[in-house]
Amino acid sequence: MKLTFLGTSAGKPTDERNVSSIMLDVRQERGGLWLFDCGEATQMQMQKAKFSLSKLEMIFITHLHGDHLFGLPGVLTTRSLIQNQSELTLVGPKGIKQFIQTVIDISYSCLTYPLNIIELEQDGLVFEDTKFQVETKLLAHRVPCFGYRVIEKDLPPTLNIKKLHKDNINTGSHYAYLKEGKTVTLADGRVIDGRNYHGDFKQGKKLAILGDTIPCDASIELAKDVDVLVHEATQEDALEQKAIERGHSTTVHAAMIAKQANAKRLIMTHISPRYSLNDNAKLVNEAKGIFSHTEIATDFATFQV
Ligand SMILES: [Zn+2]
Ligand SMILES: [Zn+2]
Repeated sequence: MKLTFLGTSAGKPTDERNVSSIMLDVRQERGGLWLFDCGEATQMQMQKAKFSLSKLEMIFITHLHGDHLFGLPGVLTTRSLIQNQSELTLVGPKGIKQFIQTVIDISYSCLTYPLNIIELEQDGLVFEDTKFQVETKLLAHRVPCFGYRVIEKDLPPTLNIKKLHKDNINTGSHYAYLKEGKTVTLADGRVIDGRNYHGDFKQGKKLAILGDTIPCDASIELAKDVDVLVHEATQEDALEQKAIERGHSTTVHAAMIAKQANAKRLIMTHISPRYSLNDNAKLVNEAKGIFSHTEIATDFATFQV
């Protein structure tokens, strides 16, 4: 999985940062792109980052504040102009369906592909297939805001072919059974337990992308043992009171959540327009005092999960 930040500013865009949007690139794992939040001008940011709308498979919206939402009509309607008309799934808090329907009706637009809208009203599993699982929990913001935990399922173990050859087991037709850990009987009578010939198995990655929130238990639960935690850090530590009053977190809050959740890595985003890129080092250092594996996102920065 690869994360690309398309917008990292809180509330409004600045010369250096666009408003919230993150692309989770799972093309390698399942052939699609998953977008988290869709602030204004996200389709332009996608174009600049060379992300094709035709590959867009899922959109997850954390909450209905404009800086996370106002790019959605553009993304959805432009996707109607392209050749690929595959289904798109949109997940977001209750009200998102009415928002989309209203925009489309009032602007005489139409969508030429199936749009599957899932409205969230409570915690739970929002997506699952053979490779991935996405869970959501309600965070603590001024309006209903949902955080997401993306879990890549463990890949099945490979077969240790060298060991099989060494033991003179060349039963190609049995390999599939052995790989599944089943027991097979060979032509020479030997009974072979597939589990004894398993090689390494690849542990799936875990990722939490949270929306706007003050520190809360749901954040810790969503971020438990993740490889990467994406957490908002709207304000510096000195402005803690201001952050909390507006339903936001500071750099230190984000670091505390990462530490309590035992995350491996923290990426801070949703930075107040009061800060320029020159303030990045200061903001990161505040968080590093509590959680050393901290980075700060900038627009178009990419992170391998
Ligand atoms: Zn916001
Ligand atoms: Zn908000």
